[in-house]
Amino acid sequence: MARKEPRTGPVGSKLDRPFSEKVIEARGYVAHNMAEYNGKTVVSCSFGKDSLVVLHLALQNNPDVPVVFNDTGVEHPETIQFAKYLTKEWNLNLTIARPSDPWFKLGRNGRSGRWMRQRYTNYWQCVAEFGFARGGKRTGKNGSAGTHCCYYLKDKPMGRSVRENGWKCVIDGLTAAESRQRTLRAVMPDYGACYRFVEWDAQKVHPILWWTEGDVWEYILRLDLPFNDLYSQGSERVGCMTCTAYARWESEMQRLTPKLYPIIRERMAEEDALVLHPDIKVLSTGNLDDSGILTVGTLEG
Ligand code: SF4
Repeated sequence: MARKEPRTGPVGSKLDRPFSEKVIEARGYVAHNMAEYNGKTVVSCSFGKDSLVVLHLALQNNPDVPVVFNDTGVEHPETIQFAKYLTKEWNLNLTIARPSDPWFKLGRNGRSGRWMRQRYTNYWQCVAEFGFARGGKRTGKNGSAGTHCCYYLKDKPMGRSVRENGWKCVIDGLTAAESRQRTLRAVMPDYGACYRFVEWDAQKVHPILWWTEGDVWEYILRLDLPFNDLYSQGSERVGCMTCTAYARWESEMQRLTPKLYPIIRERMAEEDALVLHPDIKVLSTGNLDDSGILTVGTLEG
């Protein structure tokens, strides 16, 4: 078996520490920030493996700590099922941030402000307006590296929920090892495990920033925590089931949601055709109706 070379540099020295040291550090981040922002801390939980660890750490400090789940409307059924199970089993104090409410009041620090309208409140609206999220392309708002759907379905509802609830500290399960972009950002001077996030007027805390995937599973398995069934099906992630923004989305979607895959592929081909032939018009946009059935747009030459 090939010997694993030790990683070097600041990233390697943070990732390659003993598991016990990382657990002590993570507990410290959670305890310190929950004490400092007493009663104003929330745990952001996607019901994936990383946020499960952080949620478990936070519950040791305060079993009633608020938990916020950002439901994008295109979550895997397994995630919704696990969210329901864990909420009941662990008696979670859960708030759900949804993009579905088009109206919100813009005001800082609990002060009332003017009513604003959010234009895009579901995934298919975002796709119809901005196209599919394509990995590696700067498709986000104002050319940012994020995506429009993440901006409208995640960032905005979460920001609104943080402001409306007066939370001043958001603890989440972000890890640097998840992507190159996250690793680079984690070592930037203004980021790291704790920093001020001006957009939400709150502190962001990533207690397991320097944990590897192996560390996360070690914690879950050692403590025999329940986890999202998507992992038992071989999934690497639990985000939106429609996501096309990461490298292996096609193989994941073909395996996990085989009925959805050809529909998304067809819509992407339509989108490509629109770029090549702008005279083609899309008559209707794909949408998920209340029963979860996907209707697909049609093309007119
Ligand atoms: S995770 Fe993917 S599908 Fe979901 S909002 Fe972000 S880019 Fe869009």
